[in-house]
Amino acid sequence: MINIDNNHKFSDLVDVAAFERLMESLYKATGIPYGLVAEDGELLSQIGWTNACALFHRVNPQTNQQCQESNIELMQSLHEGEVACAKCKNGLIDYATPLVIEGRRLATLFLGQVLSEAPDMEFFAQRSCEFGYDEAAYMEAIRAVPIVAKEQMEALMDCMVGMAEMLASSGLAQLRERIMEHNLNKSTEKRVQLEDLLDSSPIGIGWSNLNGKIEYINHQFTNLFGYLLEDIPTIDIWYLKAYPDTNYRENIVIPWYKSVIVAYEKGMIPPELEGNITCKDGTERHIVVRISWVGDKRLVSFSDMTAHWRSERRNHAHDVMLEMVAKGKPLNEILNAIVQAIEAEDSTSLCSILLLDKEGKHLLSGAAPSLPDFYNDAIDGVEIGMGVGSCGTAAYLGERVVVEDIMNHAYWQPYAPLAAQASLGACWSEPIIASNGHVLGTFAIYHRKPTKPEASDIERIKFAANLAAIAIENRNVRTELEHRAYSDYLTGLANRRSFIEQAELELARHNRYGDDLSMIMFDIDHFKWINDDYGHSVGDLVLQKIADICRATLREIDIIGRIGGEEFAILLPQTDALEAKHVAERLRIAFSQGEIPLSEGLLPSFTASFGVSPADDIASIDKLLNQADDALYEAKESGRNRVCMAHKVQ
Ligand code: GH3
Ligand code: MG
Ligand code: MG
Repeated sequence: MINIDNNHKFSDLVDVAAFERLMESLYKATGIPYGLVAEDGELLSQIGWTNACALFHRVNPQTNQQCQESNIELMQSLHEGEVACAKCKNGLIDYATPLVIEGRRLATLFLGQVLSEAPDMEFFAQRSCEFGYDEAAYMEAIRAVPIVAKEQMEALMDCMVGMAEMLASSGLAQLRERIMEHNLNKSTEKRVQLEDLLDSSPIGIGWSNLNGKIEYINHQFTNLFGYLLEDIPTIDIWYLKAYPDTNYRENIVIPWYKSVIVAYEKGMIPPELEGNITCKDGTERHIVVRISWVGDKRLVSFSDMTAHWRSERRNHAHDVMLEMVAKGKPLNEILNAIVQAIEAEDSTSLCSILLLDKEGKHLLSGAAPSLPDFYNDAIDGVEIGMGVGSCGTAAYLGERVVVEDIMNHAYWQPYAPLAAQASLGACWSEPIIASNGHVLGTFAIYHRKPTKPEASDIERIKFAANLAAIAIENRNVRTELEHRAYSDYLTGLANRRSFIEQAELELARHNRYGDDLSMIMFDIDHFKWINDDYGHSVGDLVLQKIADICRATLREIDIIGRIGGEEFAILLPQTDALEAKHVAERLRIAFSQGEIPLSEGLLPSFTASFGVSPADDIASIDKLLNQADDALYEAKESGRNRVCMAHKVQ
């Protein structure tokens, strides 16, 4: 940056050689010599000497001395805007005027020497004699001195000074213009450097003025969000686009911004805002926003936390999935949770999971909560093969199939109308592969418009398919392992622990809602004899037959458990004591008619004794079992093969 200071000289402002040529013309026209002396005394330019001075006054030391003294006196009498005029000690007249620009004297213009009237030849003859000049030559030199009236000289001086000052002024203006231009270039250069710097920043940066007009956004800002400056001319428009959810904008973003202003006014560190920003293409990024003030500009920085946020969310989705598997949640619930977690990463995507059937030939609905029912129904059961959409082909090949534009892809030809009806434009499908390498199904990501996956999308779909594989495989593990822990190996009924767990839940519901609930307990009569007479394995067949009869006789909602060796319990929701008694009777009769073929003919009939109790005010399953057991005891005591009610209801 160059300052416009006041140190410039006349020679900085005016082309002295050109000025001199001008004065030379004047000299030729008038014979009036001229001189230009800078403020520091330097003789800048000079045209014409009168011979009187050049050949006589300046040559003789005494007259030269007088000449110098006269000059000094003249200089001392100078005033701005005035033409000074003095007769020198050698009898000639000099005129001088300072050149002043904006109150500062730049130089002095001299015109002379001249005479204002016809010379007093006697005076000059006398001096010629006094200083030993060649009189004839000196007189000729004196006669050659131009005679110009004082008024005329003053007018001429005014004209020349005016012209010199005008030239100097315009020179100064030009100089200033050049300086300004230079400084402007410099500041543009500085601005360019700043913008270059900001553009290479890995953080999105923008600034706005006090009126909320956005004046600048850097490259990273556009990289992150896709917006150009013309898309978001003001802060208000930015907020509408970045936070399109009115609720979030009004309840989170605006209050945050107000708290930033309060912090700024109090000189405190303004709070950050961590949240999702909607990009120009509708996708979302997880961003930490920080605001600061630089002069009257509001500087905002945007740190992209999307990758970190995604990995946190993925860890969370993974944990949730494992927890659901561990808790034995139904597979469709787990798969729905996976789909929703993956969709949440990119709100423009719609996801689906299809499962390969046991034959390995057809895809069945797994989870697709965002796709329309008619679409899911149409796809359900589709036979896999080359060109059967993205998923049918991916399951068939065991490889990822990326269809960027459904309407113009051969694989989708048979399904194009269906996809158009469901407004689907792109479908990328990743096979879900089991740990043994077999295809379990497909995980698909759809978009409404034709869309090409980016590296992060591929990573996402792989993660999703992997998560689904773990869920499907571990759920299967549970139905091998968990089944053993929860059910009785011989009869397939719930074991004691499982029965009590399920029954407690049912009892809690009964206590909350007051529905009817009843318990039946039964015990095989003289089972020991069957074992003793026919062998333990025949006893086992009886136990299995009992279980089959129970399953065939009872409803889906009834809970049946083998709670001891030949002791069973049945919890009957929405069933009062009388209805339960009827159920027990039906079972008793069915048992007595149960046929068990043996190699040597049918097993003689077997029977059981039953105790029935309503749940009513009973607080725990143990107590309810005790009460039913008491009734069962009575049934045994009173002759077996019968149903007894608990005392309370008898
Ligand atoms: P009651 O009518 O009084 O109930 O007489 P019971 O013989 O049925 O009763 P007890 O308790 O004396 O005998 C029960 C028998 O059930 C003894 C046991 O060996 C047999 N048992 C228990 N579990 C199994 C099993 O899993 N398989 C077979 N085959 N027998 C079993
Ligand atoms: Mg028993
Ligand atoms: Mg028994």
